[in-house]
Amino acid sequence: MRIERHPSIHFITLGCAKNEVDTNRMRALIEASELFDIEEDVTKADLVIINTCSFLTEAVNEGIELTLELAQEKAENQINCPIVMAGCIPSRYGSELIPELPEVAAFVPVDKEDTIVQVCLEVLQIEYSGNLKQPKVARTVEAACAYIKISDGCDRFCSFCAIPYIRGRYYSRSPREILDESAYLVDQGVKELVLIGQDTGIWGSDLEPPLNLAWLLREVAKIARKVNGWVRVLYLQPEGMTQDLIETIRDTPEVCKYIDIPLQHVSEEILKRMNRRGNAREFLELIQHLRAEIPNITLRTTYMVGFPGETEEDFEELVSFAEEAQFDYHALFSYSPEEGTEACELPNQVEEDIKLERLQKMTDICDSLGHASAAQHIGKTYPVLVDGLEEEEDGLTTIIGRCSFQAPDSDGVVHIEQGSAVSGETVYVTITDSACYELFGDIVQREV
Ligand code: SF4
Repeated sequence: MRIERHPSIHFITLGCAKNEVDTNRMRALIEASELFDIEEDVTKADLVIINTCSFLTEAVNEGIELTLELAQEKAENQINCPIVMAGCIPSRYGSELIPELPEVAAFVPVDKEDTIVQVCLEVLQIEYSGNLKQPKVARTVEAACAYIKISDGCDRFCSFCAIPYIRGRYYSRSPREILDESAYLVDQGVKELVLIGQDTGIWGSDLEPPLNLAWLLREVAKIARKVNGWVRVLYLQPEGMTQDLIETIRDTPEVCKYIDIPLQHVSEEILKRMNRRGNAREFLELIQHLRAEIPNITLRTTYMVGFPGETEEDFEELVSFAEEAQFDYHALFSYSPEEGTEACELPNQVEEDIKLERLQKMTDICDSLGHASAAQHIGKTYPVLVDGLEEEEDGLTTIIGRCSFQAPDSDGVVHIEQGSAVSGETVYVTITDSACYELFGDIVQREV
């Protein structure tokens, strides 16, 4: 191909925050190469990269359907725009996909994403023999809040989960890389750094010499301190809650007093079948301990219903636990059998209608707990980090932001009804109302 202008690339990201970070990294590599432009409008792009998720069969189907729809649309409009499929679907299914999806020009599994520039050159048949320009830090900044992946892969092999087969064995990113990335993001205007991984609590245990998450949080907090920013950590498995970590969250002002512990279930029998540890009593003790140690802590968890062998009694144990534990935020799933996982082969798979019934019951309970927790903020004043503007149903725009007890993309936002502020600014907001998980408020003071 002879090019008069840089070919343009459009990214589509499916799945979780970890995928967003991966897309961001590929985008930074593409931008730094100075060989392509990023195109925000998919209809105008010369090449589309779909970064896929394959955590659940549903997510795989979504990724494949989107790819086929896009391919069909391009064919109908006679647009030659190759599609590259990146991320978790190619990692999970490998070369099996090639005969199945001739619409895709190239597959880039997670561990090959650093080669994205070469892949795009090949797909677009561009000859380039120079050295590829690399970014100093492979990140682009799109908002006042940024996710930082501190590890990848997982060694836990929960029996329902395909992640260890998709993302591979657990490894911690080096502290140097994480701290350089944090410093870069803060220099570029980021105010909230969100540390993520499949299993953040064991960060550093595989490094030589070993380090730990509490140390890392304190180091990242020093960087955030320069801009009066926040640090948050997500996906802490219960075993990762060391006293050092609890005290670090409590005593480090920049660290959000927010803990996300995905428990999945509380019945000891179900947890054993899940290849996980713990029971309802231990988890309640942990929660009481967290609440006693960290005043005003906000807690989030994930529950899964309908795991193979879940009896009515197991389910009722989960219900009673949820009512007693009163997490502020919940993510709820019903079990879905994932090809290649151990749980797929377990006897006593729960029927779909029972799973749905249980999911609905848990949703009602958890929503009522969550909405009551959100309503408790009415009348209080908090620092709010402004994320930007959002178009409301009436067509008008409102400033939106988040309190430190609201993680991005999951816990609702604060809609600011009175006052002005810009993205990245932290302002004091008095909460005047709540609707489900959404909060509404007025700015009472700019610049915290
Ligand atoms: S901890 Fe369990 S659920 Fe989470 S990624 Fe690892 S194997 Fe999957």
